[in-house]
Amino acid sequence: MQWSRRVVILGGAESGVGAAVLAKKKEFDVFVSDKGKIDKKYRNVLSLNGIAYEEGKHTASLILNADEVVKSPGVPEKAPMMQAIRKKKIPVISEIEFAARYTSATLIGITGTNGKTTTTSMVYHILKNAGYNVKLGGNIGKSFAMMVAKEKAPSRAALAAFGSPEGGELHAQAPSLREGRGGLYYVLELSSFQLDGMFKTRINIAILTNITPDHMDSYHYKFQNYINSKFRITQNQTQEDAFIFCTDDKVITKEIKKKKIRAQAFPFSIKRKVKRGAYLTKNKLTIYINPKNQTNMFVEQLALQGRHNIYNSMAAGIASRLVDVRKSVIRESLSDFQNIEHRLEFVSRVHGVDYINDSKATNVNSTWYALESMSHPTVWIVGGVDKGNDYNMLKELVKQKVKAIVCLGTDNKKIIKAFSKLVDTVVETCSANDAVRAAARLSAKGETVLLSPCCSSFDLFDNYEDRGRKFKQAVKSL
Ligand code: ADP
Repeated sequence: MQWSRRVVILGGAESGVGAAVLAKKKEFDVFVSDKGKIDKKYRNVLSLNGIAYEEGKHTASLILNADEVVKSPGVPEKAPMMQAIRKKKIPVISEIEFAARYTSATLIGITGTNGKTTTTSMVYHILKNAGYNVKLGGNIGKSFAMMVAKEKAPSRAALAAFGSPEGGELHAQAPSLREGRGGLYYVLELSSFQLDGMFKTRINIAILTNITPDHMDSYHYKFQNYINSKFRITQNQTQEDAFIFCTDDKVITKEIKKKKIRAQAFPFSIKRKVKRGAYLTKNKLTIYINPKNQTNMFVEQLALQGRHNIYNSMAAGIASRLVDVRKSVIRESLSDFQNIEHRLEFVSRVHGVDYINDSKATNVNSTWYALESMSHPTVWIVGGVDKGNDYNMLKELVKQKVKAIVCLGTDNKKIIKAFSKLVDTVVETCSANDAVRAAARLSAKGETVLLSPCCSSFDLFDNYEDRGRKFKQAVKSL
């Protein structure tokens, strides 16, 4: 098939520059356009590879002549240039879609509202410990396209073992889950924005952690649009592929009944025994692939505690077992997995009070799991930019676990209205330092201070990482 020749890439950061390098390598006429400034490190990569680019503007005459556009996840659909592209009916794809055309590796893709980064990192950790040739990317870390651009061509022996790819190098993915075509695996975190630009990519092992309302502003405030976006992860799966999902999630189970999913289902649950997938019996976790293939471990052995992390561990365990990682390696890896920064991260114990940084909790659902896992009276630091939160689902937990609330945001009215009748003390602050000092005053030995904001951070901080780091600095200077 003759592929389009001019590829225009919108966005000159990790994902866009990766796509540009790959497109150049594949001898397309490549042009990168970024409305903002392009970071020096990325400008260098573009120049080194002889790739034309512009920054601080989008020049229509250089963009609207594209045969195909690769849109970075950060470029909003509402941007005038995107609308012009849509009007001209130029195909728009994501960097993931572009990159997947040029690899024959096994793709393990992870999506969901919460738990993507944690689960993706767990799968990577397990496969790495097992000695597999595995790479981590997508919405986390390095650009998938850049990694594909740097791929060494599979050896003749590997190609002979798996048959030579049909149709040249395009869409020549692994015929079976276990073989890891050419021995290579990509573990990819996929956001809904990336999935929206995916059309033909076949994800060999797909994980869907959960679906709760988020990013509604980008989906015309229609929850169904967001659900459809998440389910795109299954759209090109075949019967040889696997779909791993949380069957305790009612949104997911309802949607599965409506959709025709061809992949083999591997549900996981902590509420009921499933025929195949993963489940709990008291505190014993079982990963069940078939009668001869079961892995057991105790919940207490999991490195990451909390109900949500049992789910994440189950999903990662099933995916690893499906590619034949040894049971002992899965058990060991799930027991020694190091928590990632800003996700229920223990910071320090000061005067007998534990401080926990869960700055990545930017929606109600993730904070629900944080509060649920608190085992001591808790001073809760919450607030920021509200994305249309419904706080009702937190009320019961707040009544049980929270002794005081410290608001950290410029507009705290909604939080105060939702919780002031349930909690005696609610104070307002507008810096991490003040919030931590207030929380220190309100807490006593044996209690916990939890930053789990339920909201985005952009009113007072650069991003959630900045908020988490400032919180940790403030705790350290107590
Ligand atoms: P994502 O990449 O989807 O944003 P993360 O793994 O970064 O997910 O976690 C984001 C937030 O959600 C953190 O506060 C974390 O503690 C919480 N979380 C992690 N896994 C889950 C889950 N399975 N369900 C609900 N919340 C979760």
